[in-house]
Amino acid sequence: MALKNFHSPRNQSAEDNLGCNEYLNLAKTPMTYDFNNIFAKIIRGEIQAKKIYEDENILAFHDISKAAPTHALVIPKGAFKNFPDFVANETPEKISNFFKKVSEIATLLAADKSGFRLISNIGSDAHQTVPHFHVHILAGKKMGPLISSDNQLR
Ligand code: AMP
Repeated sequence: MALKNFHSPRNQSAEDNLGCNEYLNLAKTPMTYDFNNIFAKIIRGEIQAKKIYEDENILAFHDISKAAPTHALVIPKGAFKNFPDFVANETPEKISNFFKKVSEIATLLAADKSGFRLISNIGSDAHQTVPHFHVHILAGKKMGPLISSDNQLR
C-alpha cells in the first residue's frame, strides 16, 4: 500500500502538555486509522475529487453531496482519524497552517462574503461518516439551526 502521502508524527509533547488521558485515548490510536477510507483514497489519487486546493500537506475539494451551495471539505494529508487525533499528534506548525489554509480556502470560495459555517464531526454521535479528519466549509445560504433538534436560528 502506498503510504508516501501519509505522515503521523505522534507528538508526544502535545500529549504531555494536555495531560488529559481520557481525551487523548480518543486520539492516540494510530493503529485504528483506516488507510482504505475514502479520503485516504482521494489523497492517493485512487478516487477522483473536484479539487479546490492542494499542497504537500493539505487537500480541499467539493463535497460530493452538497448540503449548501458552497460545501467544501478540507483535509490534512496525514493519517489522522478525527480532530482530537489531529491536534494531539500533528506538529503545532502544521496544525496552525491547516487552520490558516481553511480560512484562505473559505476566502477563495467567497464563503466569507455573507458568512459561512465550519463543521468537524467526531465519532458516531456527530455522524462522522469518513474516518479521516476533515473540516466542512458551508456557505451560500442561511444555515438554520446549529443542530436539527435546535430550534433557535443562531
Ligand atoms: P462526515 O459525515 O462529517 O464524516 O462528512 C463526510 C462527507 O464526505 C459527507 O458530507 C459526504 O458527502 C462526503 N463525501 C463522501 N464521499 C465523498 C467523495 N468521494 N467525494 C467528496 N465528498 C465525499
